[in-house]
Amino acid sequence: MSAGLNVVLLGAPGAGKGTQAERIVSEFDVPHISTGDILRAAVAAGTELGRTAQRHMEAGELVPDEVVIGIVGDRLAEPDAAAGFLLDGFPRTIDQARALDDILAEAGRDLSHVIVLDVPEQELIERLSGRRMCRGCGKGYHLTFDPPVDEGVCDACGGELYQRADDNEETVRNRLVVYRRQTEPLVEYYTGRGLVSTISGGGRLPDEVWTDVRAALAADRPA
Ligand code: AMP
Repeated sequence: MSAGLNVVLLGAPGAGKGTQAERIVSEFDVPHISTGDILRAAVAAGTELGRTAQRHMEAGELVPDEVVIGIVGDRLAEPDAAAGFLLDGFPRTIDQARALDDILAEAGRDLSHVIVLDVPEQELIERLSGRRMCRGCGKGYHLTFDPPVDEGVCDACGGELYQRADDNEETVRNRLVVYRRQTEPLVEYYTGRGLVSTISGGGRLPDEVWTDVRAALAADRPA
């Protein structure tokens, strides 16, 4: 039986997962569990996990399944995830999805929604090349579509904006290949279970996409 809003957010790099995730967590009051954010924090802290993750991330490849599965298992066991969660960037492989099913089943839980953000490839490349992030709070910007008021400075916290090491063109192309090959099959995996809402994110403003995401999450929401 499901308890609460247990959501997986799927979509290629640059599809807008981070932007929609911010809105989902504030509207539905669930913790945002982003494996990319957790791994970047480990890289910045120079931990052993960070050193293992870094070379995979910089090549645009996936970090090994057992590493990320361990991270997510631990995070889902924390008290704030007991009443619901938003997983952003996990699972990314069928083996990760199976492991997630097992982790949830052991706790008597299940997924309630899988949201797929669908954006054409050319638009993904344009978005990723202009993307900037805040070093302080992680908020995302785009040089053309969503610039900060003051160049290089976060509107929210005044932190410094930077380009992710894996947002350069060559790595971006590899990340998109990895997505198509390893992560896209998850859409079919979850479709058979009636969990999937595919939402078009191409050529639309974040507000327009959010209207559809919110409606999908409000539908059939478990009591
Ligand atoms: P993201 O911020 O979600 O785009 O993730 C950035 C990078 O972190 C990815 O390109 C991968 O190298 C790594 N990563 C994040 N989540 C996962 C995952 N679920 N499985 C494997 N690698 C991951």
